[in-house]
Amino acid sequence: MLLIQFRYFWVMKNIALILTLIAQVTTSDAFPIQEIKDQLNQLKERQIHPVAVFDLDETLIHSAKRKILSYDKAISINRPVLFQNWPEETLSADQYFSKKEDALMLSLPNQYDSTLFFKKIGIQNADFVKQLDSFMLPIYLSNDFIPVDTANRGAVQLLELVYQAKGEVHFVSSRYQSTQESGTIKNLVDLHLYRNSRQSFLHLRNDGERSLDFKVRSYSEIKAGIVANQQIFIVAENEPENFNALTQYFPNVLSIFVTGAIMNLGIKLNQVPFMITTKNFIQD
Ligand SMILES: [Mg+2]
Repeated sequence: MLLIQFRYFWVMKNIALILTLIAQVTTSDAFPIQEIKDQLNQLKERQIHPVAVFDLDETLIHSAKRKILSYDKAISINRPVLFQNWPEETLSADQYFSKKEDALMLSLPNQYDSTLFFKKIGIQNADFVKQLDSFMLPIYLSNDFIPVDTANRGAVQLLELVYQAKGEVHFVSSRYQSTQESGTIKNLVDLHLYRNSRQSFLHLRNDGERSLDFKVRSYSEIKAGIVANQQIFIVAENEPENFNALTQYFPNVLSIFVTGAIMNLGIKLNQVPFMITTKNFIQD
């Protein structure tokens, strides 16, 4: 009975702490880095190590340049067939992609909507875009251009806080393990997002596995691995579908939705407690 009362008190105390934090979060547009530091200090006082679950592409990582280079390579490899069917579009696309228009892609309200990008450069033929996308995708989902990926602003500093608190960071990405693992680890190390094999864990998708199924499987595995002196502290995603699953799996933790790129526009984003909607992880 005493144990139940103690647990009840402990849960209520933590809910109160989080509510205080969120009240501060929701009154400002800036990313609440100071509040996160305060919260980590409170965990430290209780000797609890934080666990973070982060998506990679368009959450921690900008892959716009990789995508542009993948389009460029797709055109080079498939130029005869593209030119035969869509000569004007092929010449026009070739010209833009060889100019490395990643800044243009990054500036779009939705970087995953390629039709928006093609519209900007004056190409409106949906068949051409569809065909070029199908040539681009296997290159984008390979190690080829991962070295040009960059970190979202503030991502390194945010993860550093978790590492300093003796925490774990789990990267859950629908990139393919078979074709992208080595390039991904090297890039995460180069960008200072991956610390070491005791604190950093990379979860990548199996061939043929549906993205959402993979994400849910990974969340389940991470949850099963949480030990007594650990606590899920912060989670982040850019796809509504994944964010909804992530926050159902890990409710009542700091939940970051990163704006800027949505693949599946048909899914409604759930509003959850302790939610932070942001473009990057910078306070000002
Ligand atoms: Mg993503």
